[in-house]
Amino acid sequence: MNEIVIIGGGHAGAQLCNALAAAGQGARVHLVCEEPVLPYQRPPLSKAFQKSADEALQWHRGEAWFAEQGITVHRGDAATAIDRAARTVTLASGRVLGYAWLVLATGTRARPLPQLPAGLANVHVLRSAADAERLRGAWPAATGLTVLGGGFIGLEVAATARALGKAVCVLEGAPRLMQRSVSPELSAHVLDVHRASGIDVRTGVAVGGFEVEGGRLVALQAGGERLAVDTLLLGIGAVPEQALAEAAGLPCDNGIVVDGHLRTADPAVLAVGDCASFPEPTSGRRLRLESVQNANDHAKAAAAVILGAPQPYRALPWFWSEQGSMRLQMAGLAPADGERHRRAGATPASFSVLHYAAGRLVCVESVNAPMDHIAARKLLEQGRSPDPAAACDPATPLKQFSA
Ligand SMILES: Cc1cc2nc3c(=O)[nH]c(=O)nc-3n(C[C@H](O)[C@H](O)[C@H](O)COP(=O)(O)OP(=O)(O)OC[C@H]3O[C@@H](n4cnc5c(N)ncnc54)[C@H](O)[C@@H]3O)c2cc1C
Repeated sequence: MNEIVIIGGGHAGAQLCNALAAAGQGARVHLVCEEPVLPYQRPPLSKAFQKSADEALQWHRGEAWFAEQGITVHRGDAATAIDRAARTVTLASGRVLGYAWLVLATGTRARPLPQLPAGLANVHVLRSAADAERLRGAWPAATGLTVLGGGFIGLEVAATARALGKAVCVLEGAPRLMQRSVSPELSAHVLDVHRASGIDVRTGVAVGGFEVEGGRLVALQAGGERLAVDTLLLGIGAVPEQALAEAAGLPCDNGIVVDGHLRTADPAVLAVGDCASFPEPTSGRRLRLESVQNANDHAKAAAAVILGAPQPYRALPWFWSEQGSMRLQMAGLAPADGERHRRAGATPASFSVLHYAAGRLVCVESVNAPMDHIAARKLLEQGRSPDPAAACDPATPLKQFSA
């Protein structure tokens, strides 16, 4: 038995197919996809895809490429069970696939809100192409959008809906936007820009009191005020899709637990992308990241393990988000108690925040400052830490500090 079975045809699954095909191993690969379509790019689903009914899904690779590489794609046929002793995976269709290597690339699913009844006609989540099509189909009749959750996806859709001329309200329970992922400076700037665009953003509000009529959510209570709802997006984060791994007896803890080579407790089973909880290379602290970069780099590292040339996983995390006029870019991991220094950009709407921990540059966040961001990312990759005062002098290009 020589097969490589990949469960999940998202960014990580598609990138793993690329890496294995490039090594001439395509004919060994079975890609198991719960969704009925080929792997596609998820980032546009909250951005360009919502703005125009003509915008198509962007495939990672076309059907012909998978066929040329000899990769068998099982579409619309979810994996339902893993038998690690027999080294088999059972699909919903009843098909059983044997494996030498199994890679779990099952991503995440939208975090539910237990108080909100399921199946309401005007309530949306956004993870998949099907979700995106359903939301896009709602725009012609929608007058307004209420977004529960001031995280990346909620804010991206809020900006998109505003650009479509909708009345938009964002309700965030935490005291600031994107609190788990960005600095207070970035949160404050993003709040100002969204408010200036006409979005009603409320932070630190408790939401409840959902009123349902005729299968639709008609109102909710936010901070003691009754707000009417036309269309609602539930954007309160995502949870790792780890049920299969758990049922197969693999340790999970906010993600499928893997080592520094992305191996689970079973050396024949790897986990990659959004669903994997991996050790951060410097601190060993467990991380689960939801980003395209992380999915792609995990997949490349997993391919190296399968191809017999394992390398410890050390990629620099980075992420981007587009919210209306703002392009946000983050690289590195922000420390909880580091020092932050602001570097002004070319315009008042552009700047970067440089995070230092024990004198070391560890993270950079940028708003509409792509050149500074590229330079800062290089510094992080090279482990260079310019003096903060010099690095924040806008007269000095940041790239001057890299090798
Ligand atoms: C709307 C949206 C916008 C985003 N924007 C950005 C952005 O701007 N920048 C950025 O860096 N990241 C962005 N992300 C995050 C990024 O898309 C994810 O981090 C990335 O897709 C993770 O890749 P993955 O392969 O781990 O998981 P996914 O791409 O989520 O793929 C997982 C796949 O596994 C499938 N699956 C699950 N269980 C099974 C099963 N039992 N059998 C078969 N298949 C199964 C799922 O159906 C899914 O297709 C965005 C995500 C969304 C949803």
